[in-house]
Amino acid sequence: MTKLLVLGGRFAALTAAYTAKRLLGNKIDITLINDKPYAVFRPNLPHVALGLAKPEELEFDLKSALSRKGINFINGKVVRIDANKNAVYYLDSNGKEHIERYDYLIVGFGAKLGVEKIKGFNKYGYSVCEPEYALKLYNRLKEFKGGNIAIGSGVFYQGSLRKRGKYPESWAPKADSACEGPVFEMSIMLPPFLKRLGVYNKTHITIFTPGSDILTDLSESARRLVRDLYKKMGYELVTDFRIKEIREKEIISEDGKKIKADIAIVLPPYEANDVAKSSTPELFDDAGFGLTDEHMRSISYDNIYFVGDANQLTVPKLGALAVFTARIAAEDLANRLGVNVKIESYDPKIYCIADNPLENTGVEVVDNTLFNGGISRVTESKAKHMAKSMLYKYFIWTKGDMALDQYFEQ
Ligand SMILES: Cc1cc2nc3c(=O)[nH]c(=O)nc-3n(C[C@H](O)[C@H](O)[C@H](O)COP(=O)(O)OP(=O)(O)OC[C@H]3O[C@@H](n4cnc5c(N)ncnc54)[C@H](O)[C@@H]3O)c2cc1C
Repeated sequence: MTKLLVLGGRFAALTAAYTAKRLLGNKIDITLINDKPYAVFRPNLPHVALGLAKPEELEFDLKSALSRKGINFINGKVVRIDANKNAVYYLDSNGKEHIERYDYLIVGFGAKLGVEKIKGFNKYGYSVCEPEYALKLYNRLKEFKGGNIAIGSGVFYQGSLRKRGKYPESWAPKADSACEGPVFEMSIMLPPFLKRLGVYNKTHITIFTPGSDILTDLSESARRLVRDLYKKMGYELVTDFRIKEIREKEIISEDGKKIKADIAIVLPPYEANDVAKSSTPELFDDAGFGLTDEHMRSISYDNIYFVGDANQLTVPKLGALAVFTARIAAEDLANRLGVNVKIESYDPKIYCIADNPLENTGVEVVDNTLFNGGISRVTESKAKHMAKSMLYKYFIWTKGDMALDQYFEQ
């Protein structure tokens, strides 16, 4: 039987595995390898940072979820892909190396949070990007007595986006930050939290960005809304700030600028997954992101797909694009294996809800101007908060099977 190997265990890999199974049934044997035994709903990690959710409420066990759908699971850390041998090498929990062979491979192991690129991050830095960071932030915030908070994102180590084959250089947009959504979300979630703590009036908040403006992946009109909002909230906005170091009371940029920060909440620099460094080089761009065509097939090895944050194309790095690219890859594979289904066109759009649960509201952003489209909508309402809550519940109920994701916007 045809063997499909899927790497990763969140939006991209799960969507690819579930969709391939749904479309191909018994025609395919699917194994998924993830370095953790569980999956986590990442978009709600800011809730953990404010004590509104526990990490385990955002997680589910991968082995039982996948086996119910007839998909095999291996808990292992992938260390190398050898595309010439159709082989993936991984380490088990005892550090022993194993090999897993495939006919088709879907790589959905995401990007890497380059925390080591910021001096002092481990000692003084805070983040919301993984459960352990969000918990550490909650423990700090609940004891906060007022002072300076800086929130912002690190640099995106994107690669040079060189031209390849028939695809133009500009096919994937250039971005200063990989994903500033969590920065915006934290900036609107924090005030009600600090008010409850009784320290809001004693706190100064600075938002920093490596770009020339905040949220440069959105239209100018959307950014103006955000700038006006920050002004109304009394926030300081510092642009062109490429964070290099975090100290006890301040953060420092590459060019020596300083921002006062008793708490620095940073979306760490985004880099490609380390596995790229030891794998077949032709699979990747110069930063280590997977190079594919519009069906997410590698341009060098056509039995390999890259989906989600691991693909060079997905800019900004968003769950919505991870799910979309994974669906396209599974549809393409189904057609190659004789099941005739429509393959969606990669027509990206930023779709994101910044939740504000303590005020029972949410801000939805739908924007495709980065991709030369004409949509730019920012809507705040209680319904958007409900939509984000539903998305989370849906993810947990279906064990990460985002089959209805495309209808959520409606
Ligand atoms: C705080 C936060 C909030 C966000 N909110 C939103 C939002 O509201 N909407 C939205 O669209 N996007 C949001 N995003 C972005 C979104 O979470 C990511 O784009 C998305 O998670 C990417 O999915 P992925 O499956 O491609 O990669 P990842 O989520 O990074 O998953 C990669 C998986 O591969 C595993 N892995 C990594 N390396 C290895 C290895 N060597 N071997 C085995 N397994 C490995 C990881 O453990 C993980 O399970 C948010 C991001 C953050 C950090």
